[in-house]
Amino acid sequence: MTRRLVVLMVGLVSTTLLIAGLGTLVLANVRARATTEDSLRQQAVDVSTGIGQLFGDPDGTGGTGGTGGTGGTGDTEVTAQQERQRLRQLTLLRRVLNLDGFAVLTFNRAGGVLTADELPAAFDVELLDVAALRQGVVQSGNIRSLVFAAAPLDLPQQRLAVIVLTQQANAGLGPAARYFALAAALTALLALLAAMIAGRRFTQPIRAASRATTLIASGQLSTRLPDPGAGHHDELADLARNVNSMAESLERSRMLEHQFLLSVSHDLRTPLTSIRGYAEALSDGTVDPVRSAAVIKSEARRLERLVADLLDLAKLQASSFSLRNEPIDLSQLALVAGQGFEPDAAERNIQLIVQPWPSPLMVTADHDRLAQVVANLVENALKFATRTVHVATVADHGWAVATVRDDGPGISPQDLPHVFERLYVARHQPARAENSSGLGLAIVHQLVSAMGGQVWVTSELGAGTTFGLRIPAAD
Ligand code: ADP
Repeated sequence: MTRRLVVLMVGLVSTTLLIAGLGTLVLANVRARATTEDSLRQQAVDVSTGIGQLFGDPDGTGGTGGTGGTGGTGDTEVTAQQERQRLRQLTLLRRVLNLDGFAVLTFNRAGGVLTADELPAAFDVELLDVAALRQGVVQSGNIRSLVFAAAPLDLPQQRLAVIVLTQQANAGLGPAARYFALAAALTALLALLAAMIAGRRFTQPIRAASRATTLIASGQLSTRLPDPGAGHHDELADLARNVNSMAESLERSRMLEHQFLLSVSHDLRTPLTSIRGYAEALSDGTVDPVRSAAVIKSEARRLERLVADLLDLAKLQASSFSLRNEPIDLSQLALVAGQGFEPDAAERNIQLIVQPWPSPLMVTADHDRLAQVVANLVENALKFATRTVHVATVADHGWAVATVRDDGPGISPQDLPHVFERLYVARHQPARAENSSGLGLAIVHQLVSAMGGQVWVTSELGAGTTFGLRIPAAD
C-alpha cells in the first residue's frame, strides 16, 4: 500500500514536471522565434538601406528599402558605367561579408535566380515571393527553428537583389536546462520523501488494523486498536471502531460459549444426579417408589426440555427450521397457553391473570411455535414473579400484540439489551437465574422474527418486567 502510494505520488509529480517543462520549452521557442523574426526583419531592412546608400542611392534603397515604394525608377538616370560599378561593388560586398546567416540573392527581370550565396539547407528560395519583394515588401517567417527575413534592394536593369538573413531560434532551455533538470530532480526527490512519509502515515492505521485482525484471528481476542476518539469520523476511525467492536463481540461470544458449556453441563448433571440417586435408592428399597417415580419423571422432563431447546437453537441457527404458518387467533392462543400454567402458578402461589382482547386477533403463524413462545414468556414470568403475572393481548395499528408482565425483581439495565442473545444469562440480579441456560429468549426472538414479528422487553429493577411480542395482523 505504502509502495503504491509512493509510486503514485512520484509518478504524478514527475508527470506534472514533465508537462510543465515541455510547456515552458514550447512557449520559450515560440517566443524566441517571434523575437528573432522581428529583429531579423529590422536588420534586413537596415542592411538593405545601408547597401543602397553605399551604392550612392540618395533614397537609401534605390526606391524600395522595405518601405513599399516601387523599384526601378532611377534606372534611366544611371549610366552604363555606374551600373557595372554597382554590380562589382555588390559582388565584392558579398564576398567580403561572408557572414553566417547572411546571404544575397539576385534575380533577373523575369524573377529567375541570377546568383545566390549559400543558404541554410532548410531554406528554399521558393519561399520568397519575388513579385512582392519587387514591390518592396519585406518578408519573414520560419522553417521550424530556422527564422528568416528578406528585404529587397533594387539593382540596375530591373534586377533585384534580396538580402536574406537567417538565424536558428531554438531557444531550448539553454543553461536554464541544467537548473531546470536540477530543480526537477530535487522536486522529484522531495516528492519521493513526502510520499514515503505521507504513505507511512496514512497507511499506519491500516497496518495497525491488519496486525490487530491477525492477532484476533489467531485467538487473541483481547486485542484492541487505540480508540480514535469521539471527534474522529473518517474511514480510518470507523475501521478502528469496527475492528474493536468485532473483537469485543467475539470475546463476548467466546465468554458466552464458555459460560454455556458450564451451564449446560451443570443443567445436565443436576437432574442426572437426582435421577441416579433416586434409582439407586429405589433398588435399595429405601425410598417410596411413588415419590421417586415423580421426581425421576420431573427431572427427566427438565432434561428433555433442555435437549429440545438445544436442538431448536441448533436448527434455527442452521436455518433448517420450517414453520407451518396458518391463520391463528393470538388472543385464543394466549388464553389457552396462560390457562395451561394455572396449576404451576397456584403451586407457586402466584396470581395468573389472562386478559385476552375481546375480539379475535388473527395472525398468520405456526401455532405450536407461537404457543411455545408465549409459554416460554409465561414460564419465565412465573419463575420471577412475586405475586402476579399478567398475560394480555391487544390490537395495535395493524399488529396483534401479546404481553407478559410480572412483578419480579426486574432485569438490570446492563443485562436488558442482551437478554435475547443466545446463551446470555442475566447476571446482575438475584440468584434464580443460575438454572438458566440463556436459550429460551434467544429461541423466542428467532421464532417471532421468522414469523415476521418483533419482540421487546421493558423492565424496572424491583418493580417487574414486561416481555412483549407483536405479529402483523392478518387481513
Ligand atoms: P432460560 O431459557 O434458561 O430460562 P432465557 O433465555 O429465558 O433463559 O432468559 C435469559 C435471561 O433473562 C435469564 O438469565 C433470566 O434470568 C432472565 N429473565 C428472563 N425472563 C425474566 C423475567 N421475567 N424477569 C427477570 N429476569 C428474566
